[in-house]
Amino acid sequence: MKLEKYSIGVGDRFGHQGNAQLQAFLTAKQLGVDVVPVWNKSNREHTIIGTNPEDTRREADMAVKKMGWNGAYHVDADHIGLGNVDKFMAHADFFTLDVADYIGKAPAESDLHAFEQSLVPFKGKLNVPGIQREISVTEDSLHSIGAKYLYAVKEAAKTYRHIKDKKGEGNFIVEVSMDETDTPQTPVEMFFILAAIAQEGIPAQTIAPKFSGKFLKGIDYVGNPGAFAQEFEEDVLVIAHAVNVFDIPKNLKLSVHSGSDKFSLYPHIRQVLKKHNAGLHLKTAGTTWLEELIGLASAGGDGLAIAKDVYAQAFARREELCKPYATVVEIDPSKLPQPSQVNNWSSHQFVSALEHDQKNPAFNIHLRQMLHVAFKIAAEMGSRYTSALDTHETVVSASVMGNILNRHLKPLFVG
Ligand SMILES: [Zn+2]
Repeated sequence: MKLEKYSIGVGDRFGHQGNAQLQAFLTAKQLGVDVVPVWNKSNREHTIIGTNPEDTRREADMAVKKMGWNGAYHVDADHIGLGNVDKFMAHADFFTLDVADYIGKAPAESDLHAFEQSLVPFKGKLNVPGIQREISVTEDSLHSIGAKYLYAVKEAAKTYRHIKDKKGEGNFIVEVSMDETDTPQTPVEMFFILAAIAQEGIPAQTIAPKFSGKFLKGIDYVGNPGAFAQEFEEDVLVIAHAVNVFDIPKNLKLSVHSGSDKFSLYPHIRQVLKKHNAGLHLKTAGTTWLEELIGLASAGGDGLAIAKDVYAQAFARREELCKPYATVVEIDPSKLPQPSQVNNWSSHQFVSALEHDQKNPAFNIHLRQMLHVAFKIAAEMGSRYTSALDTHETVVSASVMGNILNRHLKPLFVG
């Protein structure tokens, strides 16, 4: 199973927006760009909401049938490991092997030695076509990269082999993710991580490094987009070189776990992809849920009341809701409006505060992050929430579809 050049990971917390999401991809296709939708949901999200991997599969299959999508599509077991992969096995065909927890764990001395020995030919000046700056590889650098990453890659290999035993070789797509860790991987580290991935026989088609800068939930990139652009381009060049020298799939591409809405990076990503004819997988999972809230709020009446209730409860339970996302949300509580104030808001005021329009002075990144991690509240509302999605389907799906098409697919790939 081969992953196409461009793919986007879309999430759908409540499984109601498959059709609207797919409509965005259909429209992009009509505009001349083929992008493969991948529905991803992590174990963490399934647990918080109380859904199962088979729900995601059912949603994807139904949307594809209903909308007449005849291209490829996938269901991603996002950020899994040996401990939780089994429940995804029958329902996913894309597996994101998360090795972040194992980075820095010491490999066996003999494994490390064998890894270093195998890479002796790379000692000296590393020539990566397209990268001008001098990269030198020393015994020390090979040792420290192996010491930091080899154990983690071997853990990914264990998970890979477990999936392979169940699903059969070649019947699923493999991503290796290292984004949920403290320090970014340099392009040189990535080159030798790919060496380890090749040696372990993991047929990774995408790799998700941690990039420099902050990728906070639902808001734009915090950092220097120019520096990101250079890092991203070097990663693209390293991958292009690595697939030539190591035994890994030729279509290996970068995966950007964006935490949603890194708009200031999109022009840079687009430019680099074009320049090097490179592929991309971009995960932007959380915005669909926020578009549901925006749709409900703009519908007014009971929809707006639900949006306000979600906010009021989120405000009261901020610490609990932020805890699973501690490293990827930065909320200044003093910038959050009081629920009593929000309760007096009109539809327009609520939408202005939440909608990701950086030109709007009423837009509030603290409120947006707060609501991004507050889907648990809506899950607890049960049918009150999901019935409202049905009642206001027209306005909600317009928000969901317009968001993916106009804020993500178009700036990245179209025209
Ligand atoms: Zn991730």
